Amino acid sequence: MSTPFRRARQAITHALRYVFNLFLPTTCPACQNPLPPSEPLTFCAPCYAKMPWWNTAQILPPSLPPAIASFAAPCLYAEPLRSAILHLKFHHGLPYAAPLAKLLLPHLPTTPMLIIAVPSHPSRTRQRHYNHVVAMARYLVQHSGHTFHPTALKRIRKEEPQSAKTRAARLKLPASAFRANRKLIEGKNILLLDDIYTTGATARACALALRKAGAASVHVRTLAYTPPGT
Ligand SMILES: [Zn+2]
Repeated sequence: MSTPFRRARQAITHALRYVFNLFLPTTCPACQNPLPPSEPLTFCAPCYAKMPWWNTAQILPPSLPPAIASFAAPCLYAEPLRSAILHLKFHHGLPYAAPLAKLLLPHLPTTPMLIIAVPSHPSRTRQRHYNHVVAMARYLVQHSGHTFHPTALKRIRKEEPQSAKTRAARLKLPASAFRANRKLIEGKNILLLDDIYTTGATARACALALRKAGAASVHVRTLAYTPPGT
């Protein structure tokens, strides 16, 4: 099948699945079992009971580069959150953006900030048909005093996904992979949003690009943290 036909077929399949999902009973983002109608937009009780909340007294936060003013995440990158993030990213899981973003609400800074979602390269967003971090940002804006701009930070170099690299290779991600729009960024306190913080290389590269464009401060929030050695 030629490429345009294949792309069209993928787009139609995606659209149909998305519409279909809207009419399905809401399901748990992790195990995908149906949720009771009284508890939409959350996890099922067994998954929620197993949520790998991050106790920062037991597992210390990473040391931060100077460009990052603060970092917090509600959970460690472990089951059942891991499955939920993978469903959101790779399995037409856009409806799961809201229940996942909801986990972040208690961890947001109290001062209103400009939310910037860590951008994927446009070609990767096209493959997936949506940017899952942008979808989470939109939920957070609706439920907090923060604002959001979808294009204030762009990825200008396509790299292998960070998840496909070794820890050492991830640390080499340069700030030049991103470009921030000075008009939108200058003087602002930025809340940089991503799904997982592993080495911090992506957050650092984004934060450097944002500070170079005049950001007053960059605060990083992710759903999950992967401590070294895990
Ligand atoms: Zn579940």
